[in-house]
Amino acid sequence: MNQKGILVVVSGFSGAGKGTLMKKLITDYPNYALSISMTTRQPRAGEVDGRDYFFVTDEEFENRIANDGMIEYAGYCGHYYGTPKDFVEKNLEEGKDVILEIEIQGAHKVRAQYPDAVLLFVMPPSAKELHNRLTGRATETEEVIRQRMLRAVEESEGIDTYDYIVVNDKLEDCIAQINTIVNAARHTPSKNIEFISEIRKELKEFLGSR
Ligand code: 5GP
Repeated sequence: MNQKGILVVVSGFSGAGKGTLMKKLITDYPNYALSISMTTRQPRAGEVDGRDYFFVTDEEFENRIANDGMIEYAGYCGHYYGTPKDFVEKNLEEGKDVILEIEIQGAHKVRAQYPDAVLLFVMPPSAKELHNRLTGRATETEEVIRQRMLRAVEESEGIDTYDYIVVNDKLEDCIAQINTIVNAARHTPSKNIEFISEIRKELKEFLGSR
């Protein structure tokens, strides 16, 4: 059976640990491909262009939109973020499970275009732990941390449109849960339409030949 890959949308409050989770997930399992987003925000210390994001100007970003080169894009805390289309399409076609680590507005746009996508929300174990993680990062000012926590309150209103929630308490457990969810998605009827019609055809042929 030659299946296309699963499109996996992973969202979660800033500081929930999605980045660390996704990096480990793709290292532990060979079936995943992580999409690299484009953004107009400045790189943080240690971030590398082309690995963490494609860091671009507003003009470059807007050109990409105009040329239909984005699956989705959204504004987040004053900057653009978007998913380049070519990487996603190519990898899904090759049977890879493609991960988009994006915020909630983008997730809704992906769902509209790819109804089979699996939408997964990563939660921190508590608000206090979220604040600790954001502070521990030491790359953002207290004002930016506050903005991100306010945004988390807003985002918490939209979580019921996701398919699954995972709590990122222990990294290893959370990764195992995500992998289980993605593997389960391979077994939905909508992901197996061709296989189902193949079996139906075989059944009819078999019956016809007896
Ligand atoms: P950060 O600035 O912390 O790297 O990312 C801020 C938020 O933007 C996170 O919630 C992240 O998931 C989201 N984000 C990153 N890339 C994309 C993207 O391509 N599209 C959308 N809609 N959101 C993104």
